[in-house]
Amino acid sequence: MAIATTYSRAIVGVEAFSISVETHLSKGLPGFTIVGLPETAVKESKERVRSAIINSNLKFPDRRITVNLAPADLPKAGGRYDLAIAVSILAASGQLPKQVLRNYDILGELALNGDIRSIHGALLSVAAAQDECKPVILPIADRDRLSPLNYTGAYSAGTLIDVVSHFTGASQLRPIAMADSNEAEECEAAEVPELNQIKSQSLAKRALQIAAAGGHNLLLVGPPGTGKTMLANCLVKLLPVLSTAHALEVASIHSVAMLSEHHSNWRMPPLRCPHHTATSVALVGGGNRARPGEVSLAHRGVLFLDELPEFNSRVLESLREPIEAGSITISRASYRVCFPANFQLVAAMNPCPCGYAGDVTRECICSSERISRYLSKISGPLLDRFDLMIEIPRLSPAEIILQQEQKQDTGRIKQQIKSCRRAQLERAGKANAELGGQGIEQYCSISSKSQKMMASTMERLGFSARAYHRILKVARTIADYEQHPTIEDEDLLEAINYRRLDRLGSMSV
Ligand SMILES: [Zn+2]
Repeated sequence: MAIATTYSRAIVGVEAFSISVETHLSKGLPGFTIVGLPETAVKESKERVRSAIINSNLKFPDRRITVNLAPADLPKAGGRYDLAIAVSILAASGQLPKQVLRNYDILGELALNGDIRSIHGALLSVAAAQDECKPVILPIADRDRLSPLNYTGAYSAGTLIDVVSHFTGASQLRPIAMADSNEAEECEAAEVPELNQIKSQSLAKRALQIAAAGGHNLLLVGPPGTGKTMLANCLVKLLPVLSTAHALEVASIHSVAMLSEHHSNWRMPPLRCPHHTATSVALVGGGNRARPGEVSLAHRGVLFLDELPEFNSRVLESLREPIEAGSITISRASYRVCFPANFQLVAAMNPCPCGYAGDVTRECICSSERISRYLSKISGPLLDRFDLMIEIPRLSPAEIILQQEQKQDTGRIKQQIKSCRRAQLERAGKANAELGGQGIEQYCSISSKSQKMMASTMERLGFSARAYHRILKVARTIADYEQHPTIEDEDLLEAINYRRLDRLGSMSV
């Protein structure tokens, strides 16, 4: 019987589903049909597969060819099935032995000359094959994307002929060499934050360490040129390197988006800095193929929004769901996908449209009406989601010169943050910023005297209940950072101090 089956993988969200590629050669007029919910790029596969087989000096069968991609209800997009289709046609026509194909997952888009091109989600597909202990063949161009994995059953191929030779036994494809295990330490040592390059902003530098130690969201407010962007860049370097499991999650999302910049230092938490013209699809994900957005690309790392009020306010509101849930669900007509989006939000903004409100060196030219319109773009609920808000003042040149600062030992700070994070994981299984209502009750209790102090402060400053919970979580992190077993009043006062900008209107002095 002229039937052969090969296997491939479909990517839906951040999951790689097994797809069987069945080919039947029958009598009748020569023709080529692909069934099983294929999108346009898959339908065009016919032309690529035919040319690739002919140009590899193999025989394209002069029969009626039916290819079925099963299960039929999974959406199938892109040219990723080309290679599996070509191999199954060659097997059905007796040019390859059928039995040896049985176990393999085969992935790759074909060029007309038989070269194999890169696909998206290569890492996810190999990880899924590894879980099932199946050997997998993928494009040689995607080899470098696999560094987070350690799987000797993955083979890379450059052309269709290479794959055919592998199955006929003429010459074996070589398994992909994987990363060695010391990489975590090397990666950690290579990234040193430039804390000492930031002059005289001691409050900001302290807030940065607290934010890193507890995974808290941070808002930086100050005139242009005071180092807000540099501070945000520093934060990601202060964070501990990712565990293998977390690094794999990040690499999987990046592999779906076909991002390539993350490969060499794949254990570093990602930093994403979308421009303020970004649409909500770019930010939270979507589009007709349901691609991950910036919030998911920043998963386990930092999402930095510079010039926060310049973002479209509707776009900013779309951030609320992922901030609360740590994930984002995108619905399409025939399926739903859920992308992880557990990120630390860092935002920077000027105090007014011209940037000089409250600045001693230049006068602000904005009317109070313009300032309040500018600040009102950030809604109260969004503002509530920042745990730490700090003002970065502009210092006069004399102040910068006169303030003799001691150089901070960034290596030691990084170590302290790392052990602080580890302690939180051991205690609650998550960072302090991720604690829910029950976790706050359990781990962030304060004395009855402190409770009274908090009650009067909340009333005086008009804090919301959500703000109160965030203060408790930050206080817990400060206590952890200072190695206090329980939250002390000084920890609480420092945490309250980081929320003095809660009513942004009060900044327009
Ligand atoms: Zn101004």
